[in-house]
Amino acid sequence: MCSTGGPMADIDLKKLKTKRYRCLDCGNDFKGLGRKVICPSCQSDNVECKE
Ligand SMILES: [Zn+2]
Repeated sequence: MCSTGGPMADIDLKKLKTKRYRCLDCGNDFKGLGRKVICPSCQSDNVECKE
């Protein structure tokens, strides 16, 4: 059975909304995803959600 060819299953990208965060240590603005967000610049988890 070939089940491909139709529209691809909706990838849950729409649910995976990124949120904007700001690092309280270095002030870096970045987009984070998930519960455990760390600053990509200094790897600190001392971040706040801006949304
Ligand atoms: Zn930082």
